[in-house]
Amino acid sequence: MTQQSSLSSASAVRNDVAEDFVAESRRYCERARRTIGHGASSTPRAAQKPAPLIAERAENAHIYDITGKRFIDYGCGYGPLLLGHSPEPVIQAVQKEMERGLRTASMHRGEAEMGELIAETLPCAEVTCPTNSGSEAAQIALRVARALTGRNKILKFRGLYHGWIDTIQVSGSIGNDGPDSVGQDPGAAASVYSVDWGNIDAVRRTLDKEFAAVILEPTRVNGGCFAPPPGFLDELRQLTKELGIVLIFDEIVTGYRLGLGGAQKLLGVTPDLSLIGKAMAAGFPIGALTGTREAMAPVISGKLRHRGTFNGNPICVAATIACITHLRENEDALYSRMEAQGGELQSFIEAEAKSAGVPMSVSRIGSALQIYLGADSVRTVADLSKVDQKATMDFCGDVLAAGVQLLPRGLMYLCTALTDADIANTKIALSAAIAQTAARAAV
Ligand code: PMP
Repeated sequence: MTQQSSLSSASAVRNDVAEDFVAESRRYCERARRTIGHGASSTPRAAQKPAPLIAERAENAHIYDITGKRFIDYGCGYGPLLLGHSPEPVIQAVQKEMERGLRTASMHRGEAEMGELIAETLPCAEVTCPTNSGSEAAQIALRVARALTGRNKILKFRGLYHGWIDTIQVSGSIGNDGPDSVGQDPGAAASVYSVDWGNIDAVRRTLDKEFAAVILEPTRVNGGCFAPPPGFLDELRQLTKELGIVLIFDEIVTGYRLGLGGAQKLLGVTPDLSLIGKAMAAGFPIGALTGTREAMAPVISGKLRHRGTFNGNPICVAATIACITHLRENEDALYSRMEAQGGELQSFIEAEAKSAGVPMSVSRIGSALQIYLGADSVRTVADLSKVDQKATMDFCGDVLAAGVQLLPRGLMYLCTALTDADIANTKIALSAAIAQTAARAAV
């Protein structure tokens, strides 16, 4: 398709979608804000431009909003929907489980099966501790590390997010090494130290034998889609071993998304503990801490009090078993298709932006792409200072108005339900948004 013809089809899509969805969304938001805090169940959802997509239902790679408009979905529920919105094997397993009753006060058959599947797929996993979310997995990981080492300090990396609990929601944005939110216990965050991701010298300067753990996304998806600098993870592994510090990989996003063995298998570095969640259950709410038998000793002994009414609930466990089994049975086909589609979209966006003269960067780690406006090439953490966050959000708003949902800050997650037609229509919407960005810059 020529650029000219792609742009004219794009205008058709835009007009079709944009007209009433913004007005309806604003009406809904006004109503929701009266009884739901900030109008949304998770703060960033309310920030979407030109107006939040208010979902009515979803199917495969598509979301239908309350006006009946269809959007191609690259938000994927903030990552979990690796198999799309209606993955048959998972839904069937969950329906079957629901017929068995909603048991939650007893141990059940599924827990061991899930533990075995995780142990068979993720390199560090020998023993698993199920939670209901990634944030809870981070909470228990820090507790395990402190119990194991008898130390208190934690090292994290600026700009990385490991959940919203007080003890780790720290240094999430550039220029702020403290708590990210009002109302956080400053005491809880005081034992967290932050350095720049990828900077092994800074790590070396900071760490000592008072540190219990280092926590990081081994390959950065939240906050950039950057692969680690060469040697960084190996050195980190060695340094933490020497100092008796627990190395925690946050694979909440990368686990099962980048491959069955997560980033740790792809990169060949095995942590002591790993947080997993999101894609492991295809959209059902679950998280887990998993790790080596040695690192998980405080949990194994029963001395570490880990509690939770809904931990390991049979529905989410059934979803996890079905999801990992499906991924395992179709591993090569599913991951290689997403890799190819991700590469195709990345090349397309880069070429369109270049020909339109729009400064735009696309980085990609497997099925996750990050678009940034304001700079041609954002490849390192230092480059993030060049990013125009507002322009990036405006661009995502233009893409949404053209019928395609990206996450508002420019992150795109692919799912296995995307068809060739979806990819073609996505390109049309992206072209339109790039042309609009170019037009805005020319004014
Ligand atoms: N770690 C990472 C890397 C994440 O992206 C997230 C969620 N966006 C979390 C932890 C927290 O997971 P949850 O939202 O399930 O609490």
